[in-house]
Amino acid sequence: MSNYVQKVLEDVIRRNPGEPEFHQTATEILHSLEPVFEIHPEYEEAGLLERFVEPERIIMFRVPWVDDSGKVQVNKGYRVQYNSAIGPYKGGLRFAPSVNLSIMKFLAFEQTLKNSLTSLPMGGGKGGSDFDPTGKSEAEVMRFCQSFMTELYRHIGPSLDVPAGDIGVAAREIGYLFGQYKRIKNVYENGVLTGKGLSYGGSLIRPEATGYGATYFFVEVLKHLKLNIKGMKFSLSGFGNVAWGAAQKITQLGGKVITLSGPDGYVYIKDGLTQEMIDFMPVMNGWRHNKVSEFKDKFAQVDFIAGKKPWGNVDCDVCMPCATQNEIRIEDAKAIVAKGIKYLNEVANMPTTNEALEYLQNNKVLVCPSKAVNAGGVATSGLEMSQNSMRLSWSAEEVDEKLQGIMRNIHEQILQATVEYKLGYNLVAGANIAGFDKVAKAMMAQGCV
Ligand code: GLU
Repeated sequence: MSNYVQKVLEDVIRRNPGEPEFHQTATEILHSLEPVFEIHPEYEEAGLLERFVEPERIIMFRVPWVDDSGKVQVNKGYRVQYNSAIGPYKGGLRFAPSVNLSIMKFLAFEQTLKNSLTSLPMGGGKGGSDFDPTGKSEAEVMRFCQSFMTELYRHIGPSLDVPAGDIGVAAREIGYLFGQYKRIKNVYENGVLTGKGLSYGGSLIRPEATGYGATYFFVEVLKHLKLNIKGMKFSLSGFGNVAWGAAQKITQLGGKVITLSGPDGYVYIKDGLTQEMIDFMPVMNGWRHNKVSEFKDKFAQVDFIAGKKPWGNVDCDVCMPCATQNEIRIEDAKAIVAKGIKYLNEVANMPTTNEALEYLQNNKVLVCPSKAVNAGGVATSGLEMSQNSMRLSWSAEEVDEKLQGIMRNIHEQILQATVEYKLGYNLVAGANIAGFDKVAKAMMAQGCV
């Protein structure tokens, strides 16, 4: 590693103690960016990397609310406004007990490069809370969202920072958040949030977009390799909104989805998900019990394997993690390689540890990185923002066509970076470089800010 990149990385680790996920993403991204700094010594002179690894602003706040028994609860609230070089901060809100500053910062860092890859004018941000929606009543979720927005509203806006959903935040939460924003600001600015319901400015295809986009990206990879998705078997994790979109599109295009998973284990569907099963996914997700065993309760013909992850345990062509960070660890990577699986299409943000990633790449598994693969979600959020600004809405076909074009373009940009930097077909490094390129040019043009 060059001295400059190495030094910046060491500083990141030293100056952000106790933030393992942030260190992990910084290590992975900075390694890939090394050749860029060799070609552009002016970036080093401008202190570009030192600025790039430091979020522009971090907001942390108290979220007090009263539960159904009348007891006061307090959660932590976060918004990391990471980089606004190419547009207003943009990125989801995550409500999950595991949320902490390290996770918020890694997600916001990834989001900055991901949003750049979409070619839409969106900077990077992320936020959320350690609030756990599992088992909460509708009224508790609403009170929590209102309290969260009572602080957040002063830091966001359609041209400043536009949050959306992520784990634990979907149309229901976005509705409550928007209601409170509108009430406090006394203005109808629906471009302040994306992932809204259709009746108040949401976009068609947004719920499906992350999973559709992930499949479209993989289809581009297959086209490049002169292969076809028909008959390919996909092992997915998760059963939420992202896995649902992917399952629909894979099945429509002739592939088979043979696993889903939850924190309690995974289900194996030998002949692939049927339409009835796909339609059941959002129903089960809506119960918010977070148990994939309920899939087995409904469909007796599937197998439920308690306490295990699907990775390398079933014969498939593609592993497609759709749940959360670091769900593929070194032992999973070894199992994937041992099974002869050739592709990892990452849909969750940073689902693979750096050690597992290195092992997979050294053993010829083609890794399609999450910041490219899952960019269809935020890209469709960008399309929602455009529709809100124009005060009109596009048809599902129009949005879907634009989404396909964006995913094709992301693959094309990555390919160009891999050719320019002679990386072979290394999509991980190519995505980091292509995403960084645009942000770096904008930061250079805007001076030392
Ligand atoms: N949370 C999603 C992501 O990780 C979507 C963000 C958005 O739509 O702003 O990209």
